[in-house]
Amino acid sequence: MNSPAARNIPAWDTPLPKALGHAWIRGEARAFGGNPIVSVDPTTGAVSGDFSDGGAPAVEAAVVAARAALRGDWGRIDGAERAALLLAWAARIAQEVEQLAWLETLEVGRPVADARTLIAQGPLLIGHYASMIPALEEIAEGAIRRPRGVIGAITPWNFPTANVLIRAVPILAAGNTLVLKPSELSPRSAVLLAQLASAAGLPPGVFNVVPGAGHTTGATLAAHPGVDMIAFTGSTSTGQAIIRASASRSLKPLTMECGGKSPQLVLPDMIDRPEIWPGVFAAAFWNTGQWCSARTRLLVPRGGLDAAVEGLRAAAADWPVGDPRDPATRLGPLASRKQYDTVQGFREIARRTARVVPLSTVPEGLPANGFHAAPELVLGPPQDGALVQQEIFGPLLTLQEYADLDEAIGLADDGPYGLAATIWGADRDAAARISAGLRVGSVDVIATAGARPGVALGTPFEPRKQSGFGVEGGLAGLAAFTTPQAIAHAV
Ligand code: NAD
Repeated sequence: MNSPAARNIPAWDTPLPKALGHAWIRGEARAFGGNPIVSVDPTTGAVSGDFSDGGAPAVEAAVVAARAALRGDWGRIDGAERAALLLAWAARIAQEVEQLAWLETLEVGRPVADARTLIAQGPLLIGHYASMIPALEEIAEGAIRRPRGVIGAITPWNFPTANVLIRAVPILAAGNTLVLKPSELSPRSAVLLAQLASAAGLPPGVFNVVPGAGHTTGATLAAHPGVDMIAFTGSTSTGQAIIRASASRSLKPLTMECGGKSPQLVLPDMIDRPEIWPGVFAAAFWNTGQWCSARTRLLVPRGGLDAAVEGLRAAAADWPVGDPRDPATRLGPLASRKQYDTVQGFREIARRTARVVPLSTVPEGLPANGFHAAPELVLGPPQDGALVQQEIFGPLLTLQEYADLDEAIGLADDGPYGLAATIWGADRDAAARISAGLRVGSVDVIATAGARPGVALGTPFEPRKQSGFGVEGGLAGLAAFTTPQAIAHAV
């Protein structure tokens, strides 16, 4: 394991910094005396720190600060100045990749090497949105594109830095101010990101963070009449609660990026190509399956089952389960005891109702109380059962066979979620037919065995069904955080 000291980050047994658990409001740390929330290291199961639930007082102070910033410098500067400030923030983030990765590993068990890679892409996301600011004017159609105002963002924990940046960056690039309620599992990386924004020169009150629990701090933010819009990322059931809360004292627009249960379909021309299996494995098990777009339902042509089992077993050898602090680890622990128990529940259903094929094991020697889980394949689960229909958010991949394209489309589309899909096959006509038949926001078509899907930052997409609504990405994703104001001059 690389020595953290050699990389200029704190030792792994350093307690989580107390100051990063405080709210960040008007460019300053603010402590609120709400109930303590205990953080647990998923690798060891031991307490790693605590922070206070900010609650209504923190939300109130943050909303006031965000409104004041909108009326102050931030509301007056032009798009070019905004872009320059965002790029200065990106440069700060690039310098703190190690520190952010250290926090993610301790807070939610992200494998440190993977955390570094993903966090290092954050500055690219900022550059992408900053470069599109001038284009907002071009789509104004004679109206003026205004920021929506004070936006409340509520985010999950599965990729703590990326979850925050994907929401925060277009909101800020569009000229809004932000009150962010990060997951109670991962508040510190969010606070550090806001601190870096302040250090880069974003005016006080532009980017505020209120750490706390969902049913207190989160619900207060969603309901607050001084918040002009809510951007939510998280589970579908929480999204429904937020929609209800948001309508209790106000009428505000919302974007909802919620859960998923995405399929991957192998077409007949690829089932005998062994090069596909590393990609199929990665699409299902990246981040130990804790990924909204994890492709956790595998559909293969009839007779393809053995090839899939063999290929996935071989692929698992390159994805060792282990201590996330070890740079060689690719599958870290589940993020929390709650997540571990949920996954255990689904494992029991799998053992009762289907055939389970372990793809690898949890190695000896890991801390006994950590939340480690090895990847498993579930063969032939009933289509209408929980394993196929519900989001597990863990390392379980279902495997089903289909007779023909129509059946494949029917199985893939049958479920409550509509986030994403992957098609492995060179037959473009078949891929086009399947894509049109799936009610999902994005489809990767992998026409060359061994190729990997790339993230197309500039392409907008919108989740469907119970995966949510609201365009993300591209100019449309930026414009979603503005509103057209028509000004008619009568002379
Ligand atoms: P979650 O729904 O439990 O929590 C998400 C956020 O909502 C947290 O900050 C939480 O504190 C807050 N919250 C909880 N109850 C609330 C309430 N009553 N009012 C206001 N806020 C409340 O989700 P999670 O466990 O943090 O994350 C996993 C979920 O997120 C999965 O369903 C996953 O698919 C989804 N997710 C979706 C995307 C996407 O882009 N579609 C991306 C990442 C994760």
